[in-house]
Amino acid sequence: MTTQKQRGTVVDPSSGSPTCEIVTIGTELLLGQIMDTNTTYLAQELGRAGVTVCFRTEVGDHMEEIIEVLRGALKRCDMVITTGGLGPTLDDLTREAVARAAGVELEFRQNLMEEIEKTFRRYGYQMPENNRRQAFVPAGSQAISNPVGTAPIFIMEVNGKPVVCLPGVPRELKFLLRTEIIPWLGQRFNLSDHRLTYRVIKTVGVGESKVDHLIGDLILPGKNPEVGLLASQGEIKIRIAARAGSEQEAQALIDPIDKEVRSRLGSRVFGYDKDTLEGVVDNLLAKKDLFLSIFETFTGGLAAEKLHRLVPSQVSKSIVIPDEGHIVQWLGHSNMAKGDETAMAIARKLKKQEFSGVGLAILGFPEEREGNYRVKGVTAVAGEGIERIYSWEMGGDLNTLRQRGAVIGLNTLRLSMLETSNA
Ligand code: ATP
Ligand code: MG
Repeated sequence: MTTQKQRGTVVDPSSGSPTCEIVTIGTELLLGQIMDTNTTYLAQELGRAGVTVCFRTEVGDHMEEIIEVLRGALKRCDMVITTGGLGPTLDDLTREAVARAAGVELEFRQNLMEEIEKTFRRYGYQMPENNRRQAFVPAGSQAISNPVGTAPIFIMEVNGKPVVCLPGVPRELKFLLRTEIIPWLGQRFNLSDHRLTYRVIKTVGVGESKVDHLIGDLILPGKNPEVGLLASQGEIKIRIAARAGSEQEAQALIDPIDKEVRSRLGSRVFGYDKDTLEGVVDNLLAKKDLFLSIFETFTGGLAAEKLHRLVPSQVSKSIVIPDEGHIVQWLGHSNMAKGDETAMAIARKLKKQEFSGVGLAILGFPEEREGNYRVKGVTAVAGEGIERIYSWEMGGDLNTLRQRGAVIGLNTLRLSMLETSNA
């Protein structure tokens, strides 16, 4: 069996960047016993180097199926990169499958045999007889020895298109890709003009469709630079990817689009690349020399935990009280109205009692309906010259709602801090 996923290409193949299909080989991949992290790694590194990955295929340890995948991949793309199936056992079929797809025999290479034997000697072992298999490669291929494992790798040109065969073991694959294959591809395809650079703009507090509405006209697949959207956990990331001969040229291509995106999205943009919402919030607090006390209910301390993970952080106190009755006790009011006023009363109390400068309350009490949850959330911020409140309502699974609640709380705090900086 084979599975195949077609992914959007990063850049139009006609832009001159060579195309590649990644083929990962191993029945354990199809059984879901291991995660195909090799493809993710290869796709990232190849993209950076200037190769456009167009297809990724997983195939089991079956000769005919591997050959069929290789033939298809060679039709679809300018090159093929495989991982796995280079070991010494009978189910390691990559060498033979590539030879058959190329219409050649396997040939024994004495120099590879000697290297494999040397590796075993170095570790103090006698080489098992079946490791002889690893000294066979398709006739006419270029073999490259593997200093971090036993299986030599090889590159076989089939009708002018290279098939690059790498080991399945991630550590070996990474080493050989970096030291041998990327430099080789750079020369073979003259990649220096196609290096991929990207910048990620991060937004929060806005849905995917709204972002699409605001900047949709900039998302033109195949353009250089190309703009793409990625949504996760209440954040929308906007990736601007450019291909150019140098980092500087790529950045110059990205700059005007970045400026345009920011001008359209305004304060919804909270940062770039590795920035995190909690990191940005913490910096804003630090700049004003403010400490934060934070109170949470259904988010169970998630917002606080994100901030506590930053060492040091501006959090001076965090409290979790999930139950409404105990909140009333903590507040010391008996007839507290629900919702907005409670949240603001808590934020003000935190600010006053805890001498922290800013209080943040994140409230909500999810209700279960037919296995799903619905929550009316409210978040309030109180500080010197700062008061901000935001209510929302959302349904979904509890974990997602918790994450959202924490993000909305931190974002409300961020927006209130920005307001005071602009005042
Ligand atoms: P070996 O010489 O160890 O047999 P190999 O090249 O034949 O290497 P495989 O036998 O296919 O590679 O895989 C070896 C190990 O590498 C697997 O047990 C698995 O843990 C890991 N591996 C293989 N393919 C992948 C993949 N696509 N993503 C992540 N890990 C993988
Ligand atoms: Mg193996």
